[in-house]
Amino acid sequence: MAEPKLAYDRLVSTLKEISLLGSIGALLEWDEQTHLPEKGFEHRANQSSMLAKMRHDWFTSAVIDDLLAEVESSSLVQDVHGDVAVNVRETRRAYDRARKIPGSLVEEMSRTAVMSQQAWAEARKKSDYKLFAPWLDKTLGLKKQEAQCVGYERNPYDALLDEFEPGETADGVRKVFAELRGPLVELVGKVAASSVKAPVEILRRSYPLAAQEKLGREASAAIGFDFQGGRLDVSVHPFCSGMGPGDTRLTTRYDEHSFDNSFFSVLHETGHGLYEQGLDPKYAGLPRGDAISLGIHESQSRLWENFVGRGKPFWKHFFPKVKSAFAQTLADVNEDAWFLAINDIGPSFIRTEADEATYNLHVLLRFELEEAMLKGDLSIADVPGAWNEKMKAYLGLTPPDAARGCLQDIHWSGGAIGYFPTYTLGNLYAAQFFEKAHEDLANLDDSFAKGDFSPLLDWLRENIHRWGKTFRPRELVKRVTGKEPSAEPLLRHLRAKAALYGVR
Ligand code: ZN
Repeated sequence: MAEPKLAYDRLVSTLKEISLLGSIGALLEWDEQTHLPEKGFEHRANQSSMLAKMRHDWFTSAVIDDLLAEVESSSLVQDVHGDVAVNVRETRRAYDRARKIPGSLVEEMSRTAVMSQQAWAEARKKSDYKLFAPWLDKTLGLKKQEAQCVGYERNPYDALLDEFEPGETADGVRKVFAELRGPLVELVGKVAASSVKAPVEILRRSYPLAAQEKLGREASAAIGFDFQGGRLDVSVHPFCSGMGPGDTRLTTRYDEHSFDNSFFSVLHETGHGLYEQGLDPKYAGLPRGDAISLGIHESQSRLWENFVGRGKPFWKHFFPKVKSAFAQTLADVNEDAWFLAINDIGPSFIRTEADEATYNLHVLLRFELEEAMLKGDLSIADVPGAWNEKMKAYLGLTPPDAARGCLQDIHWSGGAIGYFPTYTLGNLYAAQFFEKAHEDLANLDDSFAKGDFSPLLDWLRENIHRWGKTFRPRELVKRVTGKEPSAEPLLRHLRAKAALYGVR
């Protein structure tokens, strides 16, 4: 049976080449966000869309289908968790999805996204929803078409969510939020009513940028980021891009009057970067060597940012360093005050600035609105009103304008509908992984306090990173923790944080 083996080898080499095109696109995208001069955007859009089209055409060619079919009917895929079966299964999944969406729709979506993002940026700047509404309407229409092309059993939302979180459904997400909503609203309300207030003013003092940058790099390296296989640069919106083996790019932004903004986004993006650097280079360019989902990716960033980076043991090690880096600024600040300041819990308008507890309520609101829009239960004109109603119900706030309301996120303008729930799934998974790591590894807190984060990183490498797309997200969580994904670990973690405010 030499033929299936030959077909598989050919499939592998073709996929690796196609993936090179993808990583060239990622490099263009990184450059666009970090270095591209203002006048170069149009030319860059042409470069990027040509690459994307080449990649799409190549990937959806009948050759891939033939090669897949030959291997699928062979004994090579017998071991369902073996690398051949994983590469074939996940390539088939992506291939079928890509083939179901006509090229004309792909092209229209990408053209609309460019225009719609421009309209959104303008609308947000002027805080004028009317400027964006027609584009949201158009985007939604295209996403509905996409859902129809891809197909779904119960809910068009499933077809969109599945792109970001394979195997996840709107029902699954709704169940998660049903567990979270009540306890979170209650917890946030109690913290708001507490007489204990986080001294957040500390974080808004003067933090010279050079010292911020140095400390951010030090923290990133301390938790395990390999700077010989990566970089840290500046962009308007922080992100992480895994170009391939030995090249993982992180970005952050600096504000002299905000310590937490840059520091925690460095930890967050480093968490993403550690996942990328922990993928098995042997399978680079193949599903077996690629991250499984946005939810699992976000679990890694949140784990380092919030579970490690906002924890007591971490600051036992880092507070003296912060204190000496900003000696004048922090002359009157002790570790306890600092710890409370970086664990501020309180309702706010902007999701990306929200704390760990309120964050998931921001996501819940978006999920509910997206589902209602897709089903036709919510008209485009009514989005701002519905947004504000939910803000009031969940966080007790009414946005003063659309810029701080329904215009704040870039996602909808780019067509990323069905994306938001992956943030909360990431938080959920992070909590569950972190609890399990503590069970498996004695003295984890002691090693953090000494500045040694390698036991946790090794555990993540072994249990999560090196498996690539071998297991679907929920399956992976169950294999690693022995339990179905649940909101309980996250709620336990957040209750422990609320205890800082005397909330029981
Ligand atoms: Zn992230």
